[in-house]
Amino acid sequence: MSILNTLLLDNTEENIIKAAQILKNGGLVGIPTETVYGLAANALDPKAVLKIFAAKGRPADNPLIVHISDFSDIGKFNLASQIPKQARLLADRFWPGPLTMIMKKSDVIPNEVSAGLDTVAIRFPSHPTAQKIIKASGTVLAAPSANLSGSPSPTTALHVMSDLNGKIDAVVDGGMSDVGLESTVITLAGKTPRLLRPGAVTLEQLREVLGDVELDDAVLHKLKSGVKAASPGMKYKHYAPKANVILLKCSDSEYISYVNQHADSETAALCCDEDTEHLSVRCFSLGSRSDYSVQAHRLFDELRKIDGDSTVKTVYSRLPSIDGVGMAVYNRLIRAAGFEVIDLEKM
Ligand code: AMP
Ligand code: MG
Repeated sequence: MSILNTLLLDNTEENIIKAAQILKNGGLVGIPTETVYGLAANALDPKAVLKIFAAKGRPADNPLIVHISDFSDIGKFNLASQIPKQARLLADRFWPGPLTMIMKKSDVIPNEVSAGLDTVAIRFPSHPTAQKIIKASGTVLAAPSANLSGSPSPTTALHVMSDLNGKIDAVVDGGMSDVGLESTVITLAGKTPRLLRPGAVTLEQLREVLGDVELDDAVLHKLKSGVKAASPGMKYKHYAPKANVILLKCSDSEYISYVNQHADSETAALCCDEDTEHLSVRCFSLGSRSDYSVQAHRLFDELRKIDGDSTVKTVYSRLPSIDGVGMAVYNRLIRAAGFEVIDLEKM
């Protein structure tokens, strides 16, 4: 791939027009969203979409989310063969926001976007800069997270630059992503709505609106070999830092004593604010124990900091609860740990 001169742009009105022009011309732009930064291309231009896969090193069988700037874009651009009635209910409550809905696709969606599936994933982001760029581009934008495949999703423009500088046309800086984790993904294409990826919109909230919502097995458990992933992204080893992350299932005091017993110069803790004064290893804190939204906000940034310290070989963290946003933190952490959990309660 040729080396591009990647522009790092402030989110001024002028730069938003510049970014939209690059997208219209089939280029790639890193855009801020409230979940994580997205790597955007014109979703209706297969050639532009293929560049996303090349820049990220993303497997071709992992489909992309299509970003819209109004619910009416689904009909205006004829993205879905049918809009499920649940989509309207969810949109009324959670859009614009960190929720992606999967529905049956129309022929307008290129196979490069849906990775050969007969469905399309759609999201209406709330970040004002994302909305302005989509609107100004005059189209809808395919945008996976703007990281190299396999590294933590980017929550700042500098994270995007550090992964993709020279491989994409521009990045628009819209500040640190508010949520910090990728969107909640729900499929409405089957008989019963099913949560495929947890995020800031929680399972409890989805059930409040829709009643019955199933939880896909791959959210909390490692896929058994031979089982096909409902969401292809779930089968890849994601978000794993270079250091070995080990999750402990235990009480707060057991966590502290276990980490201190195993402390050496190559060990670190991905922990909470309340732990740091008790731990004798290098601490990367996610925030308060009880605040999963803050932990979500900081998780990827802390994983990148751990990656930046080559002396760290082992990182101990603890298994979050699966209530509310805790489920999203659990889902990302257990993947960062390659599903390696030490259950101290059973020992
Ligand atoms: P990313 O944008 O990098 O956060 O990745 C998008 C996620 O949505 C991946 O886990 C994809 O596998 C998933 N996804 C996108 N489109 C579909 C679809 N049509 N069906 C199931 N999962 C999808
Ligand atoms: Mg991603």
